[in-house]
Amino acid sequence: MEIALRGIGVSPGIAIGPALLYGVQTIDVPKYRVNDKAAEVARFETAANEVRKDLQLLYEQTAEELGQSNADIFRAHLMILDDVDFRKEIAERVHSEGLNVEHLIDEYIAKHSRALQSLGDPRFQEKIKDLLDVGSRILAKLLNTTSENLSHLERPSVIVAHDLSPSDTANLDMVNTLGLATDLSGPTSHTAILARALEIPAVVGLRYVGEHTMPGDIVILDGTTGQVIIRPTEATLAHYIAEKKRLEEERKALISAETHRRNVTLDGYEVPILANIELPQEISHSLRNQAEGVGLFRTEYLYLNRDSLPTEEEQFEAYAQVAATFKPRIVTLRTLDLGGDKFASHLRMAPEINPQLGWRAIRFCLERPDIFKAQLRAMLRASIHGNVQIMFPLISGVDELRRVKEVVKEVAADLERRSVPFNKKIKLGSMIEVPSAVMIADLLARECDFFSIGTNDLIQYSIAVDRVNEKIAHMYEPAHPAILRMIHSTVRAAKAARIPCSICGEMAGDPLFAELLVGLGVDELSMSSVAIPLVRAEINEIRMTGAKRFARRLLNVETSAEVRAQLLKRFRARRSVQALLDTSPVQAR
Ligand code: PEP
Ligand code: MG
Repeated sequence: MEIALRGIGVSPGIAIGPALLYGVQTIDVPKYRVNDKAAEVARFETAANEVRKDLQLLYEQTAEELGQSNADIFRAHLMILDDVDFRKEIAERVHSEGLNVEHLIDEYIAKHSRALQSLGDPRFQEKIKDLLDVGSRILAKLLNTTSENLSHLERPSVIVAHDLSPSDTANLDMVNTLGLATDLSGPTSHTAILARALEIPAVVGLRYVGEHTMPGDIVILDGTTGQVIIRPTEATLAHYIAEKKRLEEERKALISAETHRRNVTLDGYEVPILANIELPQEISHSLRNQAEGVGLFRTEYLYLNRDSLPTEEEQFEAYAQVAATFKPRIVTLRTLDLGGDKFASHLRMAPEINPQLGWRAIRFCLERPDIFKAQLRAMLRASIHGNVQIMFPLISGVDELRRVKEVVKEVAADLERRSVPFNKKIKLGSMIEVPSAVMIADLLARECDFFSIGTNDLIQYSIAVDRVNEKIAHMYEPAHPAILRMIHSTVRAAKAARIPCSICGEMAGDPLFAELLVGLGVDELSMSSVAIPLVRAEINEIRMTGAKRFARRLLNVETSAEVRAQLLKRFRARRSVQALLDTSPVQAR
């Protein structure tokens, strides 16, 4: 039967294909007679002990990286594994029936899952999943099947998962991943940002998608509306196949129509549009979409999915390559922003109750000068290969920014002593993404060369709404009057100090907000490459004079709903409603 679910569309496009359930394996289980029954029981014990070690490690790593509540699932799995009745029943049946353990484990899991299912209580669904998970782990050991790896899929698939970390997403098989559907996460989580960057349609915050999906089920996923359909009827399938074709053609037409246009308003004002990049493969996306530089290079992705820190040399090569590719256009290297929802397992950062408020970004770097200085050295050395500037995340006070600049000075002095060339006039900027930074933007502006507003975090911290929590995603609202005022006052402080102010949060890539941001006086917009043609189309249709008037008016509006209504009205006046629904991933909620 067809099942329709609604989540949060975070990366546009329609994906249609068989489901790959990440975290759940399907295994062909053999059945045969055994002669040496003691050896067969010993085989079971060995496999179970190996699984215990794996689960213990997963438990510790998850607790460390994602916190206790996320790790608890592995504790539940360990309890199932160590259940005395389970172990006893398998051993007794080997002796009484003389059958291989794989078959007996498979039967045990099926029997107990059916019993739980028959109780008809939805609270047992989790327990059934846990049983299946533990069963497949032991079977995988016994049958020596390889564990799942998202970097190499056997066939084109829609990945269905309870959750995907930014590291999982950064590691995806780019050829065979058709789309992503997850239970957890919000619109500006780094998993969502990465899916957009890689142009993979994605829906997050579905809550129960795994429970409704069997491996291989056909899944339709609409990354704009957030609609997910499992086991569609023929009519639904035909509708979405046609819709997918229509959208792809429309997007192609939009890109080719936009390719040679400049980022200029109708009354002749330039609004540079730059790209946010995370992974090397995005460079080509950015160039294809005519990015006028890189407004945000999230360098922490160089630290993920590996066993050790990247060396200074490796980092230098990555930064120099991006700088040279975009030369003479600007490349903004942001220093390491780990913590929050991005963790590098080799750094073994201890779990925290509030990771978004914790030992994250610049706070981590200032306490790990070994790591910070190596990165700064690599950035400074790369500065002679293009037009590089450096920016610091999560700055919350002047003293913090001064400490950061002190470290940069030390690194620069060291390079100079060793006659290593670098751009001595390199610009240093502060991200404005913490409310305290907005309040003292005039003071921070005296201490740096540019501002870049990180609205993803600024919204999270101002409205006190965790950006990765799907339960409160409806409260995550860029159109909140407080956010408009914060952007306005940051821009004013920047202008008074004669430094440029850009925006690199996801809000910059939502065409709905383009006129407002330009009207508020933002100098540059930096976004996922996929959004560039859409925002450029907006810039090409507005007038600076009108945008300023519009922004002034919106600054006096009292509620988010009214701000949104006015933005939509204005937007609709320029475009058809359909175009809006097709193109705006953030606002279509
Ligand atoms: C932001 O917070 O808006 C931002 C651009 O940084 P990140 O999304 O990487 O936290
Ligand atoms: Mg941020």
